[in-house]
Amino acid sequence: MAFKDKTLECSDCGNEFTFSVEDQEFFQSKGYTNEPKRCPECRQARKARQYGNGGYDYRAPRQMFPAVCADCGKETEVPFEPRQGRPVYCRDCYSKVRLSR
Ligand SMILES: [Zn+2]
Ligand SMILES: [Zn+2]
Repeated sequence: MAFKDKTLECSDCGNEFTFSVEDQEFFQSKGYTNEPKRCPECRQARKARQYGNGGYDYRAPRQMFPAVCADCGKETEVPFEPRQGRPVYCRDCYSKVRLSR
């Protein structure tokens, strides 16, 4: 089956974009039967949005705050800022405390 470059209209911005032979082959190799609905820019933008909000970014290390465990007194780190008067537990004690509830 021979592919030809196709011109499609983006459903987001209405711009025409080329569904190239390579892309068509790629789509077919993936088993996709639908043509792309969006131009590459809008696809990129959508992806960026999906990762930007709500999506958990595994590359960014979570900020950790130093704390002292209220149970065993061991120094630990917690992923939230410890507040005055609120007990903070190390990982071991936290799981104990949680289980005992
Ligand atoms: Zn577009
Ligand atoms: Zn502890």
